[in-house]
Amino acid sequence: MIIDGKKEAALLRDEIKKEISLLKKNNNRAPGLSVILIGDFVPSKIYVENKEKKSKEVGINSEIIRYSNDIAEKDVLEKIADLNKNENVSGILVQLPLPRQINKEKIINAIHPKKDVDGFHPINVGNLSSGYKAIVPCTPFGCLLLIKKIEKNLSGKHAVIIGRSNLNGKPMAQLLLKENCTVTVVHSKTKDLKLECQKADILVAAVGVANLVKGDWVKKDSIIIDVGINKVGDKLVGDVDFESVKDRVKAITPVPGGVGPMTIACLLKNTLECFKAQ
Ligand code: NAP
Repeated sequence: MIIDGKKEAALLRDEIKKEISLLKKNNNRAPGLSVILIGDFVPSKIYVENKEKKSKEVGINSEIIRYSNDIAEKDVLEKIADLNKNENVSGILVQLPLPRQINKEKIINAIHPKKDVDGFHPINVGNLSSGYKAIVPCTPFGCLLLIKKIEKNLSGKHAVIIGRSNLNGKPMAQLLLKENCTVTVVHSKTKDLKLECQKADILVAAVGVANLVKGDWVKKDSIIIDVGINKVGDKLVGDVDFESVKDRVKAITPVPGGVGPMTIACLLKNTLECFKAQ
């Protein structure tokens, strides 16, 4: 089965839209999302504009705050402090990567944890790893929703995650642990990557290496979630060699059209949840 991330994301956006419309009717208020975009890095620009478009479609009041590449760190921090105080802003997102003069850690720490729609603030990271209620990073959140569409009860499954980034691998591991999976995290220093992957009932690849996972790396009837986005010529491909893997497994996400659309839908979901919590 090929998991249709576009369809699942559209279903999630519909649910969010309905809830926001009800909230507007009853309270005359809607969630607000402020996105800070620094510089003119084209992929960031495209991504942010897509987020804004999708936010508006579900009824979120979305704004993009644009700064030139040479903006001072203190100016961005001041803006974040203003947004933290602004009652109309439910969620704040600073698009990464940042220019050299701006310290990513300082920026992430400056966002109020209750408005941290990316789930990167140490309070949210700590809550997630303690098994408490947390705002979860959008991509692993989306991956979990896709996995659960295929298999509701993940208890006892062996999940293998390739990649240990704060953005993807680590929060994915926490989410799957919470689902009672046995979790193995592998990375660039892992001795026998293929052998570890062959044990996976659920394999999540978040690496950034085109077509790394081959057909003979995967277990029969497993679920494969491909987070990777890699450009090969003018084509986008994942970390999984889709053609050699797809007929051996129970379900697989394509690239594009798998995890990507869910990431944005989960950002909208996080914004809505932040609004409700505030
Ligand atoms: P990252 O921060 O670069 O982390 C990559 C991880 O993969 C690291 O833990 C690294 O190991 C590991 N790794 C690299 N080469 C490896 C190899 N040959 N074998 C085993 N492990 C290897 O990347 P990221 O931010 O997590 O992103 C990963 C991919 O997901 C990228 O393609 C990115 O574009 C994509 N992405 C997609 C979405 C989406 O919405 N679909 C969202 C975000 C990112 P070490 O820790 O040992 O270096």
